Amino acid sequence: MNLEAIIASIVEEMRAAPDRGEVATYIPSLAGVDPGQFGMAVVTADGQVFAGGDAETAFSIQSISKVFALTLALGKVGDRLWNRVGREPSGSAFNSIVQLEAEQGIPRNPFINAGAIVVSDVNLAGHAPREAIGELVHFIRYLASDDGIAIDEAVARSEQETGERNRALAHYMRAFGNLHHPVELTLGVYFHACAIAMSCRQLAMAGRYLMLCGAHPEGGRVISDKRARRINALMLTCGHYDQSGDFAFRVGMPGKSGVGGGILAIVPGKASIAVWSPGLSRNGNSQLGSLALERLADATGWSVFGL
Ligand code: GLU
Repeated sequence: MNLEAIIASIVEEMRAAPDRGEVATYIPSLAGVDPGQFGMAVVTADGQVFAGGDAETAFSIQSISKVFALTLALGKVGDRLWNRVGREPSGSAFNSIVQLEAEQGIPRNPFINAGAIVVSDVNLAGHAPREAIGELVHFIRYLASDDGIAIDEAVARSEQETGERNRALAHYMRAFGNLHHPVELTLGVYFHACAIAMSCRQLAMAGRYLMLCGAHPEGGRVISDKRARRINALMLTCGHYDQSGDFAFRVGMPGKSGVGGGILAIVPGKASIAVWSPGLSRNGNSQLGSLALERLADATGWSVFGL
């Protein structure tokens, strides 16, 4: 298989694609991103890296951070996390509040905003918010073997200024006793996680542990193989909000998207993949990112559902 050629042809198609979706507009720093960009990076199980297009450009990883924050939280409290967060696809928008009422303040899964806010609350326990944020950034640097990964402070500030819906979710969960810290402290951790900036290359590197059954490619173990399997399962079923079924149908890989236009996708045992194009579908997932992964799955036969 010639991955270099496959990626080059995907990049060429995505560069010229007319329907690029709509860039997120809720904060100026995302609204101002050029929708013409497209990047892709693939790290294979034997450690080779293939990259194309704008693969070195840092973008706001937004909700992709939910995967790393979840991994950290599971390391702290283990399966007790599941008393506070569910494991079912939500079938509703990333920032929806309706299910919380019917389900007593327990978010459907850790990859919608409400779930990730609970995960942030878990990661905050015993720390000042600054320490909890620092711990997450250090963890991602360790996963990616890259000390250059950092938070875009302008994005973090804007998230904070415009985050009324997330505040509503957090207050609502606190009313049910499912948030243990003051809302502004927990949200400080959540907003900064969303504001982490990474390139496709860095993101694909950070996802290696999920392709390697929880092992760190440079030695040691990040998490157990069982936990890696479970995180991949959640990415497959819940990683694209109310478009998760469609993504599984078209791409067939565990994946997590963010409103910055990035997607991290995992082919267990084979590859960790990051794609980025800022234009979003109406469900808030990268329009061309999903299409590029569909093309990659078709060209390589990579899927968790067999060839
Ligand atoms: N910062 C966004 C929010 O919390 C993240 C959503 C996303 O990437 O899907 O609303």
